[in-house]
Amino acid sequence: MKVAFLASEVIPYAKTGGLADVAGALPKVLAGLGAEVRAFMPLYREVRKKKIPLTPVIERAELEMGGEKLAYAVFSHRADGVTVYFIDRPEYFDRDCLYGTAAGDYPDNGERFAFFSRASIETMRAMRYSPDIVHGHDWQSALVFAYLRYVYAGDAFFARTRTLFTIHNLAYQGLFDDELLDRIGLPASLFNMNELEFYGKVNALKAGILYATAVTTVSPRYSREIQTPAFGCGLDGLLRSRSAVLYGILNGVDYRDWNPATDHLIPRNYVPEDLTGKITCRKELAALFGLAAPTTLPVAGMVTRLAGQKGLDIVCEALQDLLGLGLTLVILGTGDQKIQDFLLEAQEKNPTRIGLKIAFDERIAHTIYAGSDIFLIPSRYEPCGLTQMYAMKYGTIPVVRATGGLDDSVQEFDPQVGNGNGFKFVEAEPEPLVEAAGRAGALFKKPIDWRKLVRNAMAADFSWERSASAYLDLYKKLAAS
Ligand code: ADP
Repeated sequence: MKVAFLASEVIPYAKTGGLADVAGALPKVLAGLGAEVRAFMPLYREVRKKKIPLTPVIERAELEMGGEKLAYAVFSHRADGVTVYFIDRPEYFDRDCLYGTAAGDYPDNGERFAFFSRASIETMRAMRYSPDIVHGHDWQSALVFAYLRYVYAGDAFFARTRTLFTIHNLAYQGLFDDELLDRIGLPASLFNMNELEFYGKVNALKAGILYATAVTTVSPRYSREIQTPAFGCGLDGLLRSRSAVLYGILNGVDYRDWNPATDHLIPRNYVPEDLTGKITCRKELAALFGLAAPTTLPVAGMVTRLAGQKGLDIVCEALQDLLGLGLTLVILGTGDQKIQDFLLEAQEKNPTRIGLKIAFDERIAHTIYAGSDIFLIPSRYEPCGLTQMYAMKYGTIPVVRATGGLDDSVQEFDPQVGNGNGFKFVEAEPEPLVEAAGRAGALFKKPIDWRKLVRNAMAADFSWERSASAYLDLYKKLAAS
């Protein structure tokens, strides 16, 4: 099974969110199951800065797009059975950020990621790598399916290739002016509502939904939710029309990176049978953020994009009540300026009760997972969510809104029976969040019950193997179709 995997971010090379974790881990597990996976991503400045030794694959090639000849090079890096190919066009990718700055998205994102898709296809041809499956992720890789359908349709090289598109977040669709099609070498006739047009714009994500042989999303529940108007972001009708080939496969966790027993980024390691290391992590976390953090009351962590999707506005509204419960809050995140300002002000007023860092920082993130007692995820919608799974492994109890993958992976703890691994609430409102956090806080005061809950959470197994097998089965089914 030869799989070409296209993703706009892949750990450890570049990351802004969960897509990178998935695109880094899944190919390795697939390789372990016998698939030959070659991943493709842009060569960003962030990758260059890491000084990873890259091997030149193509020194100079040219691609014609919209009447212009665009030069690029290709480098590779191999680790854990997977080769990653980097599309190098400095004019597009040698920039401070992946997609845009605080001031907004880069205006040429349409061209940048169309180019990435097209150059990836050309690289496969140049290497004589004829994949059984092209598996693209999110809007940044979705135009690959339009190219395969309309530009490479008659190309014998891809005659046997089947395609899979995975939606990690339906809300990010890649919307551009209609002139984009001409500039990226796709037929202008695709600008109609049955193809790539979406309310007067070109919608890159639609290319994946329409033209891929099958579509997946990252949890079973989200795959059903996106077919409803409430979660469909305007595309629910189109998704319903593809429901026969739309699947939900829950993301997994790479426990080589996310395991308190071996994690190099946390102050001290620990195992479920002996949590002394977790107490040290809690102390270090409190010291890092200058928090009082009395041991009788829980520390509630958050590692998150500061966005409406993640329910940060609900947290802001609930803040006084959460503090009223006696919680200490620790938040690491970047994003929305208004949310940042609100939290910074609240932190200034409550410096020993609220820890806040506006940054993207892997080490602090790991320390929060390890050093907190509970983990808040009040998302309005959540395709899968990885942070609840990471938190559980570190014995940090998720308090989540029952939506998407959060609902699929968290079970409400039942103290009578001793089942469950977290706390859930349904309405996206401050009060239910405070109530659920209150249930967690109350149980925290009962050490025997709490200990049982922590053990349940740490024992929950979200390793990639099961999900990777589901992907492999799907690849086989598509290849045989
Ligand atoms: P999403 O991809 O929607 O942001 P996920 O839960 O799928 O949400 O994945 C988020 C990933 O990004 C996790 O690995 C989380 O630890 C990481 N992350 C989010 N914000 C930060 C941050 N400020 N610093 C470090 N890691 C972060």
